[in-house]
Amino acid sequence: MNGAILLILILWIAPIIVSGAIAVNKKRDPFLWGFISLFIGWVGTIIIAVLPHSRPKRCLQCGEYSAEDAQICRACRTPFASTIAPQNTDPTTENGSI
Ligand SMILES: [Zn+2]
Repeated sequence: MNGAILLILILWIAPIIVSGAIAVNKKRDPFLWGFISLFIGWVGTIIIAVLPHSRPKRCLQCGEYSAEDAQICRACRTPFASTIAPQNTDPTTENGSI
């Protein structure tokens, strides 16, 4: 048996698996975080561990939930509008003197 194999498992393979598991738990992309941990090891695991849970976006067209960082709906492909768009700035509702 070679100690180097065990060292590779602990320092290289394990953080990929742990990062992927944490990413799934937080509704984030496990392949992305496994890929990140492939290069930066346990640092990537720490980053995904401290990140908050992903809050899914709800599509206004079909009601399906997509990832927080999604630009279009995964079900119907409707583009998401900016979530910071103001809702009550329509001047026609303010002005009643027509
Ligand atoms: Zn949709």
